[in-house]
Amino acid sequence: MKITGQALIGGAAVLGKGAAIRAFDPAAGVELEPAFYAVDAAQIDEACRLAQAAFDPFRMTPDDQRAVFLETIAEQILALGDALIERAMQETGLPRPRLEGERARTVGQLRLFATLLREGSWADVRIDTALPERQPPRPDLRMRMVGCGPVAVFAASNFPLAFSVAGGDTASALAAGCPVVLKAHSAHPGTSELVGRAVMQAAAQCGLPAGVFSLLTGSGNGIGQALVRHPAIQAVGFTGSRSGGTALMAVAAARPQPIPVYAEMSSINPVFLLSQALAARAESIASGFVASLVMSTGQLCTSPGLVLGVAGPDFNRFCSAAAEALAGMASGTMLSRGIAASYQTATHRIAEHAGVDTLVRTPHDGCQGGPALFRTTGATFLADPALSEEMFGPASLLVACRDTEEMAHIAEHLEGQLTATLHFDDADLDAAARLLPVLERRAGRILANGFPTGVEVSHAIVHGGPFPSTSDGRSTSVGTAAITRFLRPVCYQNMPQALLSPVLRDDTRGTWRRRDGELVRL
Ligand code: NAP
Repeated sequence: MKITGQALIGGAAVLGKGAAIRAFDPAAGVELEPAFYAVDAAQIDEACRLAQAAFDPFRMTPDDQRAVFLETIAEQILALGDALIERAMQETGLPRPRLEGERARTVGQLRLFATLLREGSWADVRIDTALPERQPPRPDLRMRMVGCGPVAVFAASNFPLAFSVAGGDTASALAAGCPVVLKAHSAHPGTSELVGRAVMQAAAQCGLPAGVFSLLTGSGNGIGQALVRHPAIQAVGFTGSRSGGTALMAVAAARPQPIPVYAEMSSINPVFLLSQALAARAESIASGFVASLVMSTGQLCTSPGLVLGVAGPDFNRFCSAAAEALAGMASGTMLSRGIAASYQTATHRIAEHAGVDTLVRTPHDGCQGGPALFRTTGATFLADPALSEEMFGPASLLVACRDTEEMAHIAEHLEGQLTATLHFDDADLDAAARLLPVLERRAGRILANGFPTGVEVSHAIVHGGPFPSTSDGRSTSVGTAAITRFLRPVCYQNMPQALLSPVLRDDTRGTWRRRDGELVRL
């Protein structure tokens, strides 16, 4: 499939009318053809209007038809073949195995949402049968979840497939019956067009209204902000920087009709090393930590950017082993010039800090970013909030705490996180139990004796957390529970059967429902 540089608006490929951008190959240091032109205000408006027109027919399709649509998108993505992987490699510097794995994950999550639709419990059907004899009488009440309306999705730079055009946000919105207007990330526009065309083709093949999916090209905050401001848009999914996410939250909140923004932004994913575990296996924990830190050149939202242990010989052993392993590692290609520059600024800022020792720092070279490791004390960390800012790349800060009380005190003072990890042995159970309630308030996923990178796409996974890890800690952006972000409940009171959706009717078979408080499947 040829990459043309066009936007995809309601089933038609059109050139944007604004400024041109080109993708940049961060490994080779060259710009790539073709040019992609920014969509203008009228094109954004058209995509949103078409999405609005598509909403009712799309959300009223049988669940099985939307399931087939998701499966067809998966097939169309696979049909793109190696051209997709090669373009993504060029645009991101990510290696082939990582991108092939990411494609499998993308296809897998589309299929998982198809399974969820066929299973049916996503609609959360509740039926309270009428009690006419009761005083006062109870009416017949039937509730189900419905899609919230067209969703604006902002693709992430660091997962050009799994968190991009047909990634988790798009899959969960489409599953919910919500059309998607997608802002392509300017760092991988060619990859975005290829996948966008696959989605567009799947929509046509499944006979769905064309406005069910549009892809907006170009760069500049104006595009995303006009999209979020558009009255047709009813929710936003975003993965990226804290500044971008909070800017879009402000736009959404300032609308005449404010809408929810589900932004996944910034997390340093603290790892707590408890004393007995450290005494027993400081070196092996260090080796696992290093492998997790350098994965994808540290450009993962769950990268372990903060490690805490009690100061002493065992924590020193951990620090030395980690520093030794990292010092011998080569730099890696970062995703974009912007991300490489931000990483350089962040590591420079920490290295210049009077209370921080630099254990490892690799010289930067263009888009090549090397591992960096820093060490400080609990008191210094607590005194300067800037030390808890995300360094997006293979960098981490090791914090030597005075004792486990100080460790717990730091946990209390951390901002919201996607993950928190505890390393402990049996003799550490009391200390772990002391930290657990604090971490439950701070993080969306708590790991025992593991490392936070590698997020399973499943039913029980949570990829979310309190602000600023996300804008709304009540949600997850990975796994089937992600669908709830784009749903809202509607209750029907004394509605005749003929007017009810099939899932709410008495004679419906096969779907789960909470009938008079009890979960049943007829
Ligand atoms: P980004 O700059 O936030 O961009 C994400 C998307 O939002 C892009 O489409 C961008 O448009 C748009 N955007 C950004 N700021 C906006 C604003 N103020 N108004 C409207 N739209 C806006 O994120 P990025 O380029 O992926 O990476 C930059 C930094 O984000 C990284 O260095 C890292 O610190 C952080 N990051 C964090 C995670 C995580 O999961 N925690 C993931 C990725 C990045 P354009 O395409 O036109 O730029």
